[in-house]
Amino acid sequence: MKSKDIKEGAPFLSPIKRGVLSTLVLLFLILFLGGVASIPYSFQSSSILYKFGTDRLLLRSGKIFGLMAFSLVLFQVASGTRLKFPDRIFSLNKVFRFHRICGLVIAGLAITHPILILASENMLFIPFKMRYWPEFTGVFLLMGLICTGVVSTLRKVMGLPFHLWFKMHQWVAPVLLALLFVHVLFVSETFETGLPHTLVFLSTGICGILWIRHKIRPFLSKPAFEVTSVEPAGKEAWRLNLVRVSGRAFQYHSGQFGFFRFQSPNISSEEHPFSISSSPTRPDGIELVVREGGDWTRLVSRIEPGTRCRVDGPYGLFSHAQCPKGSELIMIAGGIGITPMLSMVRYMADTRDDRKTLLIWSSKTREHDFFQNEFEGFGHSLINLRVIRVFTRDTEAFGENGRLDKPRLKRLVSGMTTSSYVYICGPPEMMKDTGKWLIELEFLKNRIFTENFGL
Ligand SMILES: Cc1cc2nc3c(=O)[nH]c(=O)nc-3n(C[C@H](O)[C@H](O)[C@H](O)COP(=O)(O)OP(=O)(O)OC[C@H]3O[C@@H](n4cnc5c(N)ncnc54)[C@H](O)[C@@H]3O)c2cc1C
Repeated sequence: MKSKDIKEGAPFLSPIKRGVLSTLVLLFLILFLGGVASIPYSFQSSSILYKFGTDRLLLRSGKIFGLMAFSLVLFQVASGTRLKFPDRIFSLNKVFRFHRICGLVIAGLAITHPILILASENMLFIPFKMRYWPEFTGVFLLMGLICTGVVSTLRKVMGLPFHLWFKMHQWVAPVLLALLFVHVLFVSETFETGLPHTLVFLSTGICGILWIRHKIRPFLSKPAFEVTSVEPAGKEAWRLNLVRVSGRAFQYHSGQFGFFRFQSPNISSEEHPFSISSSPTRPDGIELVVREGGDWTRLVSRIEPGTRCRVDGPYGLFSHAQCPKGSELIMIAGGIGITPMLSMVRYMADTRDDRKTLLIWSSKTREHDFFQNEFEGFGHSLINLRVIRVFTRDTEAFGENGRLDKPRLKRLVSGMTTSSYVYICGPPEMMKDTGKWLIELEFLKNRIFTENFGL
């Protein structure tokens, strides 16, 4: 297939462009936070003017902490609504990591904010009077923020299913945003008029629009697919083939993922992220391989041919299309982490990209294996591709038997240069260990990329 015939997704940004853009984003964040922190100095309320010494310091710091929390909540909405721009610079996985850390920072700031303000007034509690209603709105907001933080952090310990937590999280967000808007606008005269007043309206308005856009986007001009087949793909895994039936063409790069929502009476219509295992050379037909793991994926075999599916994506930067043509590639997959690699290898076969490539796929037993025939077929079109199967719990199977530990990894990658680009996808522990061992084996840290299957 000629490269001009291939319709891929928007080109990846070069590492230099991503570096420049991420610096600009960081700079914007610092300037924005700095600007917000200067509000209690530039637009002093009478409550600050009538205080002196430590009390003034405490009050002003309390206000700054509150305003920092307010600003970060705005970033939370922006980072939680799957914007394409940050995904193209940082990748969605990193944006969601920022979202989680930011949530904890907000909780810390929000707890400190009333403590400092009450300390400046020499009070322990807010007096129970009608005129303090904006402060009580803040109390509800604080309780909401703390609950959200605690439930999000301890979700697994509490045994709360992901889909319930996610639904709650998504609907609690606009409620908290509304409480925050009211609290900031009415709690201090600083925000009654002028620039601070306009900024509160503007930033909350932008967040509201982002949230609404995120909610209605799946139903607006998204490519709609139809399931054509659901077949077993080894033990406890299913291969789903989908064909586009309406909407714009779905263009992606090999290794990227999307959020899939199936409209079937047999399975809930919640969205789930999956890597696309097919090659972008065939954008109208896509393939997913889904491993049974939780309450939704366990029912995936119930999806019937003819089921409609909406796709939001593509997302992610985990793709060999990112690295220079001709560079050596090492792909290391653990279990179902093979799906993005499959897409990359299929794409390489379709485009006759026969560079030196080593694919190591570790799974539990031979029963978990799938695509054996296809891998053998790659041997004909990709002469420089070497596929090594590792079976961690099967001593009878072909390939390597036993864990993918450091000595084994060292032996397996020995034929590859340490300047190879490395792609790792699998269980978090495996990715962490493998990445660490490769760095110890003098592979370049900035050429090792991982994809986490948990957002
Ligand atoms: C980028 C990416 C690519 C993935 N590619 C594949 C793939 O190719 N094949 C495959 O089998 N699995 C893949 N996964 C994992 C897959 O999304 C989860 O296994 C699946 O969503 C679990 O749903 P569940 O209800 O069965 O399990 P649960 O037990 O409810 O969830 C298990 C974990 O999966 C994650 N998860 C669950 N639901 C969602 C959701 N709606 N949105 C985001 N995360 C969720 C959470 O981290 C949760 O803790 C991928 C995940 C990500 C993030």
